Amino acid sequence: MKYSIDTQQSLMEAFQATCQAEGVPFTIQRKTVLEVLMDREDHPTADQVYDDVIKKIPTVSKATVYRTLEMLARIKVIQRASHLGSTTRYDSNTQQHHHLICLKCDKILDYPIEKINLINYPKEAQGFEIVNYSIYFSGYCLDCKKKYNIS
Ligand SMILES: [Zn+2]
Ligand SMILES: [Zn+2]
Repeated sequence: MKYSIDTQQSLMEAFQATCQAEGVPFTIQRKTVLEVLMDREDHPTADQVYDDVIKKIPTVSKATVYRTLEMLARIKVIQRASHLGSTTRYDSNTQQHHHLICLKCDKILDYPIEKINLINYPKEAQGFEIVNYSIYFSGYCLDCKKKYNIS
């Protein structure tokens, strides 16, 4: 998700503060993991993040990237989008939003909550207390529509 420079800065600062509080070194590797995520809008898997990070830092280990992603998700600087297929995808947009998922290329785009904001969603279902919701729409992205001639 493309954030303003100010937002990027404050996410990075939150990350740095947590590293310091937990006694984890705030290394260039960890910094780059968050930078890569903030640069992408397609909800990458951990492997895709790793592929981007290794282009910038060839010595980075997969374990570092994975652990950093989990830490970022835990402190809510990013979120895990586990409902989007079997592989965990990471989302640097932590605001409530919906998703558009391409059936051909697996691309996942954000769809703003303002466009479909259910005022009357149930607050309880079968004893389950509902605190939040998101909707995903599947279909074909612009690129795939052109590529596969879908009209
Ligand atoms: Zn597509
Ligand atoms: Zn998203």
